[in-house]
Amino acid sequence: MKNFAFYNPVKILFGKGQIANIAAEIPADAKILITYGGGSIKANGVYDQVKSALAGRNVFEFGGIEPNPHLETLLKAVELIRKEGIDFLLAVGGGSVVDGTKFIAAAVFFEGDPWDILAKNAPVTAALPFGAVLTLPATGSEMNDGSVVTKWETKDKLFFASSQVFPRFSVLDPETTYSLPPRQIGNGIVDAYTHVMEQYLTYPANAPLQDRMAESILKTLIEEGPKTLANPQDYDARANLVWSATMALNGLIGAGVPQDWTTHMIGHELTALHGLDHAQTLAVVLPSTLTIRRDRKWQKLLQYAERVWGIVDGDQEQRVNDAIAKTRNFFESVGVRTRLSDYGVGLDSIPAIIKNLEKHGMTALGEYEDVNPQVVEQILALCA
Ligand code: NAP
Ligand code: FE
Repeated sequence: MKNFAFYNPVKILFGKGQIANIAAEIPADAKILITYGGGSIKANGVYDQVKSALAGRNVFEFGGIEPNPHLETLLKAVELIRKEGIDFLLAVGGGSVVDGTKFIAAAVFFEGDPWDILAKNAPVTAALPFGAVLTLPATGSEMNDGSVVTKWETKDKLFFASSQVFPRFSVLDPETTYSLPPRQIGNGIVDAYTHVMEQYLTYPANAPLQDRMAESILKTLIEEGPKTLANPQDYDARANLVWSATMALNGLIGAGVPQDWTTHMIGHELTALHGLDHAQTLAVVLPSTLTIRRDRKWQKLLQYAERVWGIVDGDQEQRVNDAIAKTRNFFESVGVRTRLSDYGVGLDSIPAIIKNLEKHGMTALGEYEDVNPQVVEQILALCA
């Protein structure tokens, strides 16, 4: 096992009705800014629940944070915060709203151009405190310190992380997710699954506990994902999906083990250039990454085949092939297509994707840092 520091200060309020308890988590005299997206929280009653939980408090609002949140929009919230003297943020929505709120929280105190936090890895030394009410199980953003923001003008989708932007608390009420359309439920399952895979499917690190935690999340997603799609109001199935997605990327399973993230980094460029949903990019890229990198991932692929999919018959080659095929079929079975052509993206787009990865310094990806532009080209060619 590798050395690690594990720190996760996020308080989770899990379950039905927990929105009612948020007032106690926010200082009584706070000037609060509720941040949200395109309006789903108004249609499904979550907005009303939040407003009544904060009745009598000093509350402002900022809506319109788009999926794959845009720098340009988030900077408008920063302006409002400075003008009104806001001192606490409450993100209400999916990963995009939570990620966007993390950026806003950091940008408020940043001296200089806040885009440097992402473009130049400028350190974040302070941020406004914030909480989250999560309405879409997928990203893990509700319990981690990462955020992905897109500069719309230049189509740059970049990532930053800072311990300053852990939420103070996150509400996970499975019922707030009942209104999700099947496309977003499928997306959430695929995103969470891929988060686990990018921390698990590398090389053996003598970390059986991390392996088994990762495998248990994958198996839970395989069992509960289809159940919750078939029966969206099955509380327990949805609750288990929500908790699996949070556990997939809160730092626990990745502590002390090698990590990959090739699929996510290629995926970000696909979203920025072609507008695919985040999880759609992952469903396309992950099976190809596993195939092209099979030799370097051989032992873990065999372990994955046996422990997650119960594949024990056939020679090693066949078991590895079966495991990758099962992964692709699972993504398709939850409604997320796995080929670039399914999204109208042709092989002629590969050079632009590679050019952007180079621009963003993503030229040595993967657990061995040897996924260079040539390897990315092979991976993308297989995604057609
Ligand atoms: P999202 O972009 O937050 O939301 C997708 C859509 O779902 C939006 O149109 C939203 O509508 C709608 N929606 C959300 N909750 C709903 C509900 N309960 N009922 C009906 N519709 C609902 O999706 P996401 O997958 O959670 O977030 C994706 C972003 O997170 C990407 O930018 C991705 O790169 C990033 N990401 C971050 C991390 C991390 O660790 N920080 C990890 C992986 C991915 P409204 O706008 O109207 O609310
Ligand atoms: Fe993701």
